[in-house]
Amino acid sequence: MKKEDTRHKIALIGFPWDNHSSFMRGSSLAPVIIREAFECKSTNKWSESGEDLGKQDLILDVGDIDLSSNKDGFNKIKETIRRVLKYDIPIISLGGDHSITYPIIKGFHEKYKSLQILHFDAHPDLYDELNGDRYSHGSPFARIMEERLVDRLVQVGIRTMNGHQRDQADRFRVEVYEMRDLKGYRKLKFNKPLYISFDIDVLDPAFAPGVSHFEPAGMTTREAVDMIQGVVAPEIVGADIVEYNPKRDINKVTAMVCAKILKEIISKMLEIKSNKNRRF
Ligand code: MN
Ligand code: MN
Repeated sequence: MKKEDTRHKIALIGFPWDNHSSFMRGSSLAPVIIREAFECKSTNKWSESGEDLGKQDLILDVGDIDLSSNKDGFNKIKETIRRVLKYDIPIISLGGDHSITYPIIKGFHEKYKSLQILHFDAHPDLYDELNGDRYSHGSPFARIMEERLVDRLVQVGIRTMNGHQRDQADRFRVEVYEMRDLKGYRKLKFNKPLYISFDIDVLDPAFAPGVSHFEPAGMTTREAVDMIQGVVAPEIVGADIVEYNPKRDINKVTAMVCAKILKEIISKMLEIKSNKNRRF
């Protein structure tokens, strides 16, 4: 590790990858546009809790990883995570489709033997395979649970359960809070290092139209932000924001939503860290 890197508090990586999307491509274009929205001068870089995310050297931007000529993109994703984890700071990955979460978690598993996931999504993404693809963006959590890469998976915002995926959720003992049960699960508690996987289609398409799969009756942006702010965990070691599809967006409104979620996740990571330092 280079010495000058140790002052950074958060690492940011882009994975422009949509090879395992089942319905529509385009999410590979997302990382660049989310960064632009994060930098957009129409707003400031303060989180709601009072963190100035524009502080110099707060974020170590690893950049977007070139996966274009890579048949084995998953391996490159895993290797990148493994390399960046050496900095010993939380990592936020910008997708890309949701298939990237599987190789990302493989990378995390090597460092964190006990990891828990909070998964925001309209979809459970538990298909054993989708259209013959076991690595589909509809399957990452089936692979993760099969290989026992985490010891707890909590899903929120789900509203597309079918028979097969309900069986899979039972089989893997997934804790599913469906959208219809939204009330009463705002404060989610974890007792091990936490990873947050945020599929932007958890939001109602009215708030985030830039997604490949419109699933009405979803969360408001406010509800999602409240849930992130309410998380109780010893630390948040990683997160991803996936499935933003700029081709479907309107006036980059969803890009700004992604940037907002990015800000609030970074802020929550920092808040837990500083509380911990204060306590011990
Ligand atoms: Mn998903
Ligand atoms: Mn989804």
